[in-house]
Parts: sequence; C-alpha cells; structure tokens
Amino acid sequence: MSLLGCIADDFTGATDLAAMLVKGGMRTVQVIGVPGPDDQAPDADAIVVALKSRTSPPAQAVSESLAALAWLQKVGCRQFFFKYCSTFDSTDDGNIGPVADALIAALGNGFALACPAFPANNRSVFQGHLFVGSNLLNESGMEKHPLTPMTDANLVRVLGRQTTGTVALVPYATVVRGAGAIRDAMTGLKEQGRRYAIVDAVTDADLYAIGEAASSHALITGGSGVAIGLPENFRRAGLLPAQTDAAKLPAVTGHAAVLAGSCSRATLMQIGTARGHAEVLELDALATPDAAALTAQALAWADSRLGAAPIVIAASAPPDQVAALQAKLGRDAAGLLVETALAGIAEGLVARGVRRLVVAGGEASGAVVQRLGVRQLTIGREIDPGVPWTFAEGTGPALLLALKSGNFGAPDFFLKAFAVADAS
Ligand code: ADP
Repeated sequence: MSLLGCIADDFTGATDLAAMLVKGGMRTVQVIGVPGPDDQAPDADAIVVALKSRTSPPAQAVSESLAALAWLQKVGCRQFFFKYCSTFDSTDDGNIGPVADALIAALGNGFALACPAFPANNRSVFQGHLFVGSNLLNESGMEKHPLTPMTDANLVRVLGRQTTGTVALVPYATVVRGAGAIRDAMTGLKEQGRRYAIVDAVTDADLYAIGEAASSHALITGGSGVAIGLPENFRRAGLLPAQTDAAKLPAVTGHAAVLAGSCSRATLMQIGTARGHAEVLELDALATPDAAALTAQALAWADSRLGAAPIVIAASAPPDQVAALQAKLGRDAAGLLVETALAGIAEGLVARGVRRLVVAGGEASGAVVQRLGVRQLTIGREIDPGVPWTFAEGTGPALLLALKSGNFGAPDFFLKAFAVADAS
C-alpha cells in the first residue's frame, strides 16, 4: 500500500517531485491525469497524480485535484502532498490558493505549510520572499512567463490574494532552530486560525527540518524540495524499508529526440548549447501560425535526420518573439498552437521509431504525454536536479521519457540526457 499520495499541477513538476522521492528511497510511480474510480494503485511507496491544472480555470483545477485526492485516499495513502512550481507559478485567480483551500477543506485539517524552496535549483525563500539565485522572483525572468507572469516575490501576499483563508510566515530565524521550533510555530499559527504558513528555507538542511516538522500533517504543499525530508519520516515510523535502488528502469532502445516548447532562459541556453553538437530545427510559429503545417515541416525535416544521434526540435523563442505571436493570436491561442504542434511532432517521431524523448516545458510536456497516450511513468535516474528519465507506458510503445520543467537543467542538459540514459 502506498504511503504518500501526491497531486502535481503539471507534468514536469510531478516528475520532479517523483525524482526527489526516488532519491529518498521511495519507489515512485507517476500516473497521468485523474485515475478512474476503479483503477488499481500501482505497486509503489509513493504515487504522484500528474494533472495539467496549473493554468486551467480554477474550478476545473479544484475538481480534478479533489478527484485525485479521493482516489489517493481510496487506495490507502496516509499523507498527501500538493506539488506546485518552485517559482510558485500562478495568477491572482489561482490555481495554488483555490486548490490548496479545497484540499484542506476535504481533509478537514485546517492548515498547511507552503514552501516552494528548492536549493538544488537555486530557489530559496527568505522572509517570505522567493529568490531565483540572488534575484527576487519578479526580477528572475519569471515576470515574463508566457502564461503565469510572476510580478511579486512576496509569497505571503501572492498566496493571500488566491485564498479565502489567511497566510502567515514561519521566518528563517525559526527555521534554523530546527524541526521542533518549526513544528511549534506551525501549531501556533494553526491555533490562531491561520490557514497557511509560508515557511522560509534556504538549504536542504532547512527542508529536512521542515519535512520532519510536518510528519503528522495531513497535507503538505510546496515544490519538490520540501519533499526531501518525507521518506525519512516514513522510515523513522518503520513504514519504509531502506531501499538501495528505487531508480532502476527497463532498457529501451530506439531513436533519440528533444522537443522544446519552453521559452525560459535555461531552455533557450540549452538549445544554444546543443547547436554544434546535434541537428537543431527551430520552428517559426509566427511565420507559420498553423499547428498541422508546423508538424508537417518538422517531421519532413526529421525524416532525413533520425539516426544514431539525437535531434532537437524547438518552438522556443525569446520574449520579443513570444510577445509578437501572442499579439497576433492572443496568449492562450499562441500557447495552444505551439503545444498542439509539439504534440503532433511527438506522435510522428514515435511512429518513426523514436523511443527516447526529452520534452522541455511543463505545458509542452503535458500536451505531448496526453497525445502519446502515456498513462504511467516509473521514475528512474536523474539527469539534472528535478529531471529524471522515466519509463513511460500507455496505449503506445514503451518509451524512455524525460520531462523537463523549462527553467531546469544545466546548459548541456540535452547532450547529457542521452549519456545518462545510455549509462542507466
Ligand atoms: P515552462 O516549463 O518554461 O513554463 P511551458 O511549456 O509550461 O514552459 O510554457 C511555455 C508556453 O509558451 C507554452 O504554452 C508554449 O506553447 C508557449 N510557447 C512556446 N514557444 C512559443 C513561441 N515561440 N511563441 C509563443 N508562445 C510559445
């Protein structure tokens, strides 16, 4: 029976969380979308239900999250985790606040901590403010995100605008005093009727302490970082054996490709680094604002290039080009166009024998996974923090799939990915 039931608001985020749990020795399976009421639970210590709810209408995000919670409860999970982005991607309408409010109400626990810190990826929270490296969130490039521009780094304020409850802070001065002090602070805030505590965290040691402090919480909300301490809670309680290799995946052979739909600085850099080492096609959605035509162009290009070496197909563009496409089509339609094209390209590549595929971008990954009919991902070795290879199963052939959140990964990520796959 699974111990931890997780609900993630996008696909790459789900994988990122699952990778964290695997590193902690929990065998973890990610299921795609809300399971049917009669679906059996996979044999795993943790289950992550991956939704694509980050930017859907709040009412839909809430109802899908509640359905996921009901299934995770039914299959016996004991603790629940709502995973959102380490850059707190959301708008004033949601969806972090509305979903967390609904989960808290359903679980009847009245309170949850909120901590997106992920030091391994340079996200830290100090005095309630989210930093990316040494920049405040709103000066990190995230203020230009195509779908969820983050223009305020003060998370007490940001979450406060999204919830019907109140938001307080457990400051760093308390966090450094360890798990007991954090637990006491959270208990005090809950007794005062606060619904959330943003909890500061700068290092993994802080996150281990926060995890320990939340061992009895019904619900934890945050980025994948704050899950780092949770496996140890289960081990301490005698519920989880020491695992040596929770990350072993079956071998998969076939062509290799990268599909990029993220316009983040990190992904743009990774595409730049791949040039000169791999064949790279940059799609021009502004010149061809038609998903089927973009797909056909890309597959015609790929036909003569698929072989021993990985190929890279990118829709990603710098902010001025993104703005130009959005001005022409509207923000949502521009995103949908690119996602539809990438999904079609993924389908065509798999039909042409691609079996190892990297997708960059949360929304892009969601679109690709849905189109390929993937139902379940077993989580394997990490390529870079937060991005593991996974063994994907569903209606099509089994694949090795890596879903990369736009901002994640070192500049040589696309090159390194296949070396890690070959070594696994
Ligand atoms: P990230 O993980 O960086 O947030 P996402 O895939 O979640 O990446 O979001 C990026 C969004 O930008 C997607 O909706 C994608 O379709 C859209 N997009 C990608 N390329 C372009 C482009 N050239 N012009 C406009 N929008 C684009």
